[in-house]
Amino acid sequence: MTAVLIDGKAFAATLREQVAGGVAQVQKQGLTPGLAVVLVGEDPASQVYVNSKKKACAEAGIASFETLFSSDVTQVGLLSEIARLNADDTVHGILVQLPLPGHIDAQAVINAIDPAKDVDGFHILNAGKLAVGQDGLVPCTPLGTLLLLKHHLGNLAGKHAVIIGRSNIVGKPMAQLLLKESCTVTVCHSKTADLPAEVKRADIVVAAIGQPEFVKADWLKQGATVMDVGINRIMRDGANKLVGDVDFAAAKEVAGAITPVPGGIGPMTIACLLRNTLQAACAIRGVAFPL
Ligand code: NDP
Repeated sequence: MTAVLIDGKAFAATLREQVAGGVAQVQKQGLTPGLAVVLVGEDPASQVYVNSKKKACAEAGIASFETLFSSDVTQVGLLSEIARLNADDTVHGILVQLPLPGHIDAQAVINAIDPAKDVDGFHILNAGKLAVGQDGLVPCTPLGTLLLLKHHLGNLAGKHAVIIGRSNIVGKPMAQLLLKESCTVTVCHSKTADLPAEVKRADIVVAAIGQPEFVKADWLKQGATVMDVGINRIMRDGANKLVGDVDFAAAKEVAGAITPVPGGIGPMTIACLLRNTLQAACAIRGVAFPL
């Protein structure tokens, strides 16, 4: 069996067009959504992410602002920039690019962001809203994974979802979102006793581990839907290559459907960031969210 390929790139392009349409609509009401990105240090991967976010904003008609700090910025310096952005009426979304240098308390910085502008959905208030099932800003990667899953499978109620990874940015919010869709959810992590046996029971597998090609084909139930969140850079045949957390070549022979890496969850993350920025701008200005 060869799995259906879940094309995140195509679905993300559609979502980005919808966001651009929504932005054009709210602009007629005098609202131009604005996203501010704060980048600390010279990490090349972070710079690539920030540049692609800027480009995506421009294409959607969202204004983008950028603050660059050297890696020796103090916590106080960073917090004062967050306070400035919180007070800026042209900024509706604030994103602090992670990871931050070790001397900075990342959670304190995130919790200093106005929760109404927390488009990453990492603020403790938005995490709490998600946990109790209230509407708020939802982290982009799990939101993108959910939208793609629903587009592919429709109603998720009653399905057994196994999430591998329990981070605050992917695994935990993913579990909350799938619970809200009435899935039966199992969350696995590095201390899970028998990971292959847990994965074998899954109708839906979400892999968010950070280990290249870690999930093997013979762990999967025949026909399972596999969402591979992982992004790992490896050397293969003398060339740099991006691979996911799932052994894609073998898994696609067992799964019913699978996301590729690249071109699966990654593009959905940026599309959801734009969507969250539009949502935040509408909520702040009391304008109906057009999507
Ligand atoms: P973290 O490192 O924060 O979390 C990894 C999780 O995987 C932890 O919960 C850890 O368990 C678990 N884990 C690690 N090793 C094992 C193992 N051997 N068996 C079972 N579980 C294990 O990573 P993130 O959640 O931030 O990211 C996960 C992956 O997703 C990465 O590849 C990252 O690059 C990618 N990513 C992709 C995005 C996208 O846009 N597509 C966005 C964000 C992340 P424990 O808690 O016990 O340590």
